Amino acid sequence: MSVLFEKVAVLGLGLIGSSLCHAMRKEGLARHIVGYAKSAETRATALEIGLVDAVYETAADAVVDADLIILCAPIGACGPLAAAIKPNLKRGATVTDVGSVKGAIVRDCGPHIPEGVHFIPGHPIAGTEQSGPRSGFAELFHNRWCILTPVAGSDSAAVAKLEQFWKACGSNVELMDAGHHDLVLAITSHLPHLIAYTTVATAADLENVTDSEVIKYSASGFRDFTRIAASDPTMWRDVFLNNKDAVLEMLGRFSEELSVLQRAVRWGDGETLFNLFTRAREARRNIIAAGQDTAAPDFGRAIKKD
Ligand code: NAP
Repeated sequence: MSVLFEKVAVLGLGLIGSSLCHAMRKEGLARHIVGYAKSAETRATALEIGLVDAVYETAADAVVDADLIILCAPIGACGPLAAAIKPNLKRGATVTDVGSVKGAIVRDCGPHIPEGVHFIPGHPIAGTEQSGPRSGFAELFHNRWCILTPVAGSDSAAVAKLEQFWKACGSNVELMDAGHHDLVLAITSHLPHLIAYTTVATAADLENVTDSEVIKYSASGFRDFTRIAASDPTMWRDVFLNNKDAVLEMLGRFSEELSVLQRAVRWGDGETLFNLFTRAREARRNIIAAGQDTAAPDFGRAIKKD
């Protein structure tokens, strides 16, 4: 792949930021990669492991002369970052992000994007429960969707170039309205996380089941919730603070479905339970058929790759 951007500034060097650095290097997408992170520790690590060619103590310094600026920080930090870089953005540059909520990014960052700079929010639907600069890897985005939510009046050539960038990182790209994105992600990502957090918290509060029993028998389902619930607390706090309406809408629907199940369990209504579980199983089969997971059994014994 040939160079797409001369200079790329990655603001936030955690899981997503570091994975993008690896992917850009592997595919040769940028001639010069620079970075910014909040802590001196992350900045030092980024240099040590070669994520970036240079690292800066301020976001404003990092974006000087950059052609592509990617905000890879928690959602609540993106507005202040956009305000900080505003004076140093080059005319013709593209500012994008990777935040898991898009309406809030448009609301908080949009007003800070100067005339002549392209603003194209984005969200790679790819991740792990790990965080920090050492957790990234180049293949994170392979065969995963990346949703771009251009704002009104976005330059089509700039959107096409960003689309090309994500495709070169291995993603499939879809364009969507920010509000629709937030509704879709509320059910596919945000609600499952909320349920995982609740399930883990409920187990922790049980008085007649010991902690060691919860851990010992976790492979019966609980373990899978703990993986989701192990995600970064700052990131997920910001997701729920910033996608409130869509999450509450999905939570309302979830509560109704839960009441149906609760009633079926109480009254021994096997038919309702069986029909609902059969429909749920179909969803899993469709995800595997779409290549978004494999059908290989994983009982927590996955063989480690060297
Ligand atoms: P992460 O591994 O925790 O990394 C976050 C990075 O942002 C770190 O470099 C951190 O710096 C920096 N940061 C934190 N607070 C900041 C602040 N107030 N100002 C400036 N920088 C700050 O997080 P991540 O998983 O890469 O998530 C980053 C973004 O990607 C989030 O918006 C999230 O919604 C989105 N996203 C995440 C996933 C996922 O599965 N994790 C998937 C898709 C999208 P220090 O290291 O110095 O603290």
